[in-house]
Amino acid sequence: MGTKGLSLVKMDVKELIEKLNEALADEWLAYYQYWVGAKIVKGAMKDSAVAELTEHAGDELRHAGMLADRILQLDGTPILDPKEWFEKSGCGYMAPLDPAVLKILDQNIKGEQCAIDAYSKLVDMTKDKDPITYQIALEILKDEIEHEDDLQTLVEDIEAAR
Ligand code: FE
Ligand code: FE
Ligand code: MG
Repeated sequence: MGTKGLSLVKMDVKELIEKLNEALADEWLAYYQYWVGAKIVKGAMKDSAVAELTEHAGDELRHAGMLADRILQLDGTPILDPKEWFEKSGCGYMAPLDPAVLKILDQNIKGEQCAIDAYSKLVDMTKDKDPITYQIALEILKDEIEHEDDLQTLVEDIEAAR
């Protein structure tokens, strides 16, 4: 990164890159969990679930891109080997072994709640220290809050229709 740009970062850059790679691993695993969940989901209001899961998969992939771009700007290297996704991920992966729509939605809600925690920590950590990463973390946090709300609303709709 340009030296002037880098001089704005008032925190340990190596530690920041580690945190961003941890979030990057989370995003890829979240992407796949949504993507494969949308393929296998079964049950009531399946079409609404597929639409929401597919939309969220796209958002997680976009988040991965935002994080990788920032890592590169900080002269870091985004995770190169998917094996590291599991080693570095903070939120992990919940294989959708039961395709029932409410089970899939529940797993993804738990994933979003973990993501909200993780990005709210990243927001706190970068506040007044790195305005660019702060803005990225805040933008992603906003999306994860929307994701949780969308999924919980869908669960309520499905339960109300029973
Ligand atoms: Fe995300
Ligand atoms: Fe999300
Ligand atoms: Mg949505």
